[in-house]
Amino acid sequence: MVDMFPPPAQARVPVRGGGSFPVHRIYCVGRNFADHAREMGAAAPASKTDRGTPVFFMKPADAIVCGDADVPYPPATDELHHEVELVVALDRDAPAGRLDPADAPALIAAYGVGLDLTRRDLQAAAKAKGLPWDIAKGFDHSAPISELVPAAEVGPLGARDLQLYVNGELRQHGSLGDLIWDVPEILHELSTLYALKAGDLVFMGTPAGVGPLHPGDVFRASLDGVATLQGRITGGV
Ligand code: MN
Repeated sequence: MVDMFPPPAQARVPVRGGGSFPVHRIYCVGRNFADHAREMGAAAPASKTDRGTPVFFMKPADAIVCGDADVPYPPATDELHHEVELVVALDRDAPAGRLDPADAPALIAAYGVGLDLTRRDLQAAAKAKGLPWDIAKGFDHSAPISELVPAAEVGPLGARDLQLYVNGELRQHGSLGDLIWDVPEILHELSTLYALKAGDLVFMGTPAGVGPLHPGDVFRASLDGVATLQGRITGGV
């Protein structure tokens, strides 16, 4: 059969050292740092045994913006917010069934740093009505991401830092040691809901300090200096 039209370009992220990472899906974790949960007015778990289940949502694969490119200010919002996050990249399919957290590291190819850009006004309205977050989270250009750094080069994540500067001012600063759900735990939880595949990216959630971005703002995100992302918000679409 002949395609009715040329297929859309495969979304890809460059990998340090060569090659590219074809994107299958983008999973995102909400409320994964207690300080951010509190700043959003949500209850933060008192302990690891009191944390309930993680909050998940998705972005379309073609929401990524790569290569320190400009990001257009999105339509339909007056409150675009930054959320700096660790990004985990999988290069193997999970086995059928639930993924044991101990087996999760074998699926991880690389890490990066990204922004979970959010139309906060639309998210607040959705939350107030008990509606889904899709229009607040899964819009075009909503997932700027650094080049991916092979996991072997990153080494143990431990308590590595996440940082975000906007116009040279430090806006967000957190430690991966403060994740409520760590990477193996999140991959396990996702595996109970979805078939994880090579090409999946997972945005791991943001620390406190989220705030507005405006046209002309320049951002610089860092995963402890190992992966960095720079870009500028432009006048919009
Ligand atoms: Mn987020």
